[in-house]
Amino acid sequence: MPPGFLNKLFARLPAADRLLPCRCLLCAGSSKEALCPACLAALPWLDRRCCPRCALPTPAGGLCGGCLARPPRFDACHALFAYQPPLSPLILAGKYGGRWPLWALLGHVLAGHRPALAGPALLLPMPLYPGRLRERGFNQAAELARALAQQTGLPLRHDLLARVRDTGHQSRLSRKARARNLRQAFRVNGQLAGETVIVVDDVLTSGATLDAAARALKRAGAGLVIGWVLARTLRH
Ligand SMILES: [Zn+2]
Ligand SMILES: [Zn+2]
Repeated sequence: MPPGFLNKLFARLPAADRLLPCRCLLCAGSSKEALCPACLAALPWLDRRCCPRCALPTPAGGLCGGCLARPPRFDACHALFAYQPPLSPLILAGKYGGRWPLWALLGHVLAGHRPALAGPALLLPMPLYPGRLRERGFNQAAELARALAQQTGLPLRHDLLARVRDTGHQSRLSRKARARNLRQAFRVNGQLAGETVIVVDDVLTSGATLDAAARALKRAGAGLVIGWVLARTLRH
């Protein structure tokens, strides 16, 4: 992380976010933010070169074998962190425990490290199935996207991409069955006219969910579909 970046970042955070937490969620030390600067700096930053398509680290930053063999429907993906401790348990706890200040902070960090865009783009949070949203009370991807929109000025569109199938409990299904389920999981409300859309999510695992969303978005006329995710699962 470039020196001085954290100070600049904290100076830019909205006042309301700065008033909320007074303890770091990781070390419990006193902190104006959900994470203190030392704990934020110690997160598993993905600063190695990565596949431009799916954000998996590759030796020279070229396309990974998976994307060469079967290119995903999304055009690019940027991930800030590896999905590893101490970030992974924090993300898991943050999905259920509310913790808006955590998502606001991480959204601002993601905005500070976003890749350059060639033109205008729309920010779309990865939607949750409505039943899940009721269960959890909030969508962490929407919280990230809100912070990104604040920081970047990019238009935030909650209305465009909707989840019409619950694909949450699929771990017992085969890969094929999961893919089939996912294929019909998204609906795009309206038509896009070649716009670039950025789908924001907290974690990218296999990329299958982003792929399914990209499929629906491209069918509705999206030009480029780009993923901006907080953390990426690494293969071992
Ligand atoms: Zn700390
Ligand atoms: Zn790849």
